[in-house]
Amino acid sequence: MFKHSTQTCFTVLLLGWFFQSCAPSIPKQAEQYETTPIITVAENQESVHILYPGPLNQNNQALVDNALKNALEGFIFNNVSESIKDDSLILLIVNYIHNKIPENTRFYSISDFSFYNDTVKIKYELNVQFIDHFVAPALEQYGFPGEKPIFPLFTQNHEPPKVEAIKNLKLLIPCNNVELPKRALLLPNAPREYRNGIHRGIDFVVNWGTPVKAVAEGIVIRADHHFKEVEPEFRQLLLAEAKQLGHTPSDVFEHILVGQSVYIDHGFDLISGFRAVSIYAHLSHINPEIKPGSSVSAGHQIGLSGNSGTEPSTLGTRKGAHLHWELILQDAGGEYYLGQGVKSDSLYKLFKQVFRD
Ligand SMILES: [Zn+2]
Repeated sequence: MFKHSTQTCFTVLLLGWFFQSCAPSIPKQAEQYETTPIITVAENQESVHILYPGPLNQNNQALVDNALKNALEGFIFNNVSESIKDDSLILLIVNYIHNKIPENTRFYSISDFSFYNDTVKIKYELNVQFIDHFVAPALEQYGFPGEKPIFPLFTQNHEPPKVEAIKNLKLLIPCNNVELPKRALLLPNAPREYRNGIHRGIDFVVNWGTPVKAVAEGIVIRADHHFKEVEPEFRQLLLAEAKQLGHTPSDVFEHILVGQSVYIDHGFDLISGFRAVSIYAHLSHINPEIKPGSSVSAGHQIGLSGNSGTEPSTLGTRKGAHLHWELILQDAGGEYYLGQGVKSDSLYKLFKQVFRD
């Protein structure tokens, strides 16, 4: 999975040279028995020792490559927040790092090389430059979700409401018979690499066409009744612009990526001192009575889940349907999202409390 062809190549070349130049001292029969390299990975995954008890061949080189790949993943795993170690977020981070690695990067380098008779001993060490340039920034950005006090959204230098301020907040879960997801990947603060942004809400795992309900009473401020999906190339262009900016522009998020959406204004009633707006994204249908200005009560059905705004939708399929829901909070200082700045190991607990029966 990781791009380390040069490393492999380098190893093969080096060993090729070594075997060639020492050819007379290698017993001929050595090439006739199959041997497997003995691979020892240091506990911190920063070094890997390989002992080739016999001649090198492509099969055992593949084993070594695989061991180095696993060691790197182990290193990343060891260096992320405890709370995401069991989560698929870790896979996303590994993938993210993988995608950032330029061709021909060696993430482990040979630091020691010795031999006697037909046994070759090689020590690989984690390439410090690689760690500094690719792994450390990725872990800094994504490895500790929610542990940074602030994720700048539209404003900075202000703080989202403290957990204390939302202890009395009680909302209805937006679909029947759906569990609050446990995976950090589906909760706020998770990276959304495809749009160079941070997840602000919860992705509820529901099938296409599942009824969606208002989480609290409020007034509808947006309902996309005449929604038409955009062309895939246009969506790609906007994501490429997001990449160039290094963040998701608010207009791209609000107008394109959320798809067919309903926004409900809850005024200042839900959390003292904050205006709260709930967002229901990627819908496939909106009930006719849901219009800007109309009042809804908690539990009122507003529409059906879908995948609008996602890539599969632009390609005309129903894949990837889910309900993206988020609660935006605003005060004089700016705009935040519920769950912002909350450590990932406390997030599930917080939302479990918010969606209590
Ligand atoms: Zn989402």
